[in-house]
Amino acid sequence: MVSRVIPVDDFDLVIFGATGDLAHRKILPGLFRRFEAGQIPPTSRIIGAARTEQSDDDFRAETARAICEYTSVRKEHPQLAEFLGLLGYVSIDAKGDGGWQELKDRMRPGAVHAFYFSVAPSLFGDIAERLASHGIADNDSRIVVEKPFGRDRASARALNATLAQHFDEHQIYRIDHYLGKETVQNLMAVRFANVLFEPLWNAQFIDHVQITVAETVGVAGRGSYYDKSGAIRDMVQNHMMQLLCLIAMEPPYHFDPDAVRDEKLKVIRALEPVAPADIVRGQYQADGTDSGYLEDAENPESRTESYVAMKVRISNWRWQGTPFYLRTGKKLRARTSEIAITFKEPPHSIFDDSGVPKANELVIRLQPNEGMNMKVMIKEPGPGGMRLVQVPLDMSFADALGPDGADMPDAYERLIMDVIRGNQTLFMRGDEVEAAWAWTDPIIEAWEDGKRRPEPYDAGSSGPDEALRLMHRDNRRWREIRA
Ligand code: NAP
Repeated sequence: MVSRVIPVDDFDLVIFGATGDLAHRKILPGLFRRFEAGQIPPTSRIIGAARTEQSDDDFRAETARAICEYTSVRKEHPQLAEFLGLLGYVSIDAKGDGGWQELKDRMRPGAVHAFYFSVAPSLFGDIAERLASHGIADNDSRIVVEKPFGRDRASARALNATLAQHFDEHQIYRIDHYLGKETVQNLMAVRFANVLFEPLWNAQFIDHVQITVAETVGVAGRGSYYDKSGAIRDMVQNHMMQLLCLIAMEPPYHFDPDAVRDEKLKVIRALEPVAPADIVRGQYQADGTDSGYLEDAENPESRTESYVAMKVRISNWRWQGTPFYLRTGKKLRARTSEIAITFKEPPHSIFDDSGVPKANELVIRLQPNEGMNMKVMIKEPGPGGMRLVQVPLDMSFADALGPDGADMPDAYERLIMDVIRGNQTLFMRGDEVEAAWAWTDPIIEAWEDGKRRPEPYDAGSSGPDEALRLMHRDNRRWREIRA
């Protein structure tokens, strides 16, 4: 299957923080891939901005190195030189007044203007204010802001208010890169483009839902940042919340930014507070060969969680009585992200002693090996009478869609192209972010006020035993964490 590439309009994209890690690893390589695919008009301009003093050519050389380091592209790639020709660089301190006029002079009238804030959140306000006061941004310009968007509701609200002084909501693109993942968007396609699932998608037929985002890496290298955050702020408030919303939301009336975001917001507002007994925090410990969290975070007293599991309830008609179990953690057994929907068992079995029908299960794998797996009951083949067996109907998107299906654009590529197209569907709205913090704030506050340490778990395990008990208590089991 050949994917269609629709070129975006001619644009000027300014990347604040162009010398940083995110720009090197994701933004610039992503832009190159879109250029290579023919989606970026060759007249477009990509302007790097940061305090480092360097020329356009220095920035081009730095970008070429980053692309070669973080992708399989080699410097001889026929389109690399052409792509580098799109680049320019302006030295700007977000807190100073130098460089802004030069930036303004480089912006071309008539092109789409987008400004990517790939800098610490403490600089978002400074940049927004200077873009406005120097007359660089106008009512059609877009700004892209990175996570974390606040660390609680109050700070998110303050940040929203700061940005709102200079930009309308329709100009603000808050990135949650999970929403840019192909398979995450597929959740909406699976639910709302098939008649098969939606009639069963409720508490009457679904026993429970498990959402797992497991990583094998620890926090070494970014320990001091992570230690101020923890799994709830780093993963649950944003990425897992988005997955939960896409699974639980009502069908939007249209695939339109505000229609989709309105429905997600309703889910967040319907979340019940999480009881302390329904949440388990964990921290990975050293296992002889591998370092533990305290060492990686360089904080021997840390009570920050590198793992969290929780039972979440959604208080509305559709989901009354169907729990959602979320878990995420670092240094776990395998790197995997999946959503598993366990249906209820058939109400009555007509097959006396030939085996009780088991519950159907639909697993949507986000990574690795994106795809879907549906467990169904069939008759065990053979002449031995009617015996039942559960088998997987397995679909890997890469197999089903051919080589182009496997070559899915990275989340950042898609999201940046959406910014240029002016499509906010896959970006979080300000009220959505604040509502998500309003739900997580009490969970975090209760933890920070208490004296408990997180439950220890071995690096390479499935997480703390307490998390297993969270499920066993409800006569359920976590799915095995495996790649
Ligand atoms: P980083 O590697 O520390 O880079 C920060 C960038 O900001 C550098 O280019 C730096 O360049 C520039 N900068 C710092 N102070 C500045 C100032 N006063 N004026 C103008 N530019 C300034 O950080 P990062 O990892 O790229 O992260 C950038 C943002 O993305 C952060 O908000 C982070 O939370 C978010 N994020 C990052 C990742 C990731 O994987 N890295 C993932 C998700 C979200 P100069 O020193 O030359 O000024």
